Amino acid sequence: MQKLDGKTALITGASAGIGKETALALAREGCRVILTGRRAERLEKTGMQIKEMYHDDFYILIFDIRNKEEVKNAFERLPENWREIDILISNAGMARGVNKMQDANPKDWDEMIDTNIKGLLYVTYAVLPGMVKRNRGDIVHLGSIAGHEVYPGGNIYCATKHAVNAIEKGLRIDLADTPIRVSSVDPGMVETEFSEVRLGDKEKAKAVYAGMTPLTGRDIAETIVFILSRPAHVQIAEIVIFPTDQASAMVTHRRNA
Ligand code: NAP
Repeated sequence: MQKLDGKTALITGASAGIGKETALALAREGCRVILTGRRAERLEKTGMQIKEMYHDDFYILIFDIRNKEEVKNAFERLPENWREIDILISNAGMARGVNKMQDANPKDWDEMIDTNIKGLLYVTYAVLPGMVKRNRGDIVHLGSIAGHEVYPGGNIYCATKHAVNAIEKGLRIDLADTPIRVSSVDPGMVETEFSEVRLGDKEKAKAVYAGMTPLTGRDIAETIVFILSRPAHVQIAEIVIFPTDQASAMVTHRRNA
């Protein structure tokens, strides 16, 4: 087992859902954590929870992951003692809409592609050269079963997660001659703000999980802690994780259905 104590971890999308739970779990394991996202107030809230429960070694960095200049400037603003990032959790991501392609708004495609693919790349590019120079590091991507399957209404979101899957595999090849590890956690249904963002409606979002027990952000956070704490010679490539009530993107058991 590797100790995570004292390592510096940067989590994108630490203001909600999986990213927030991962920040809490890593802080519990003794990591210093950099919390990133767009919503300052929500990041402050995550920070306060970390302070109340574990320690006050956190730093908040606000940027929109879609904006290349904003990402670059944000990393340049990092104080000297926060620059050596050991762990990158590339979690920030979203889906917009469940329309057929012919009925969709191309603006939604831009938002998903800019966030899930280009944003992930901008952050990776800001962190990776330092990891390579120091010859150490861990990168964990939040993929999805949408990176393994395509389902009705999923078209472009699934395309972005297939891209994340290819980027993760390519990165592992590029870093094969270094001790840097690249992993992906690819969940099925996790109840977070994800469906509300996707559907733009709280009630519709609630209905997504009707009659079944979805995964929680904490389930995913604990999986990430497992990946990171493996001995240095063990590189977990991908973990696909479903709720027990779900068997594939298309098959979900609902008790009242
Ligand atoms: P969530 O609760 O909606 O959280 C998404 C996080 O991403 C928020 O912290 C948000 O922060 C951040 N984010 C979104 N757009 C951003 C932008 N332009 N710039 C910076 N940060 C941005 O959703 P979640 O379920 O935790 O999703 C986390 C990851 O898991 C995503 O990559 C998602 O695709 C993946 N995933 C989710 C599920 C699921 O069922 N929930 C399943 C498989 C995979 P701000 O709004 O503060 O910027």
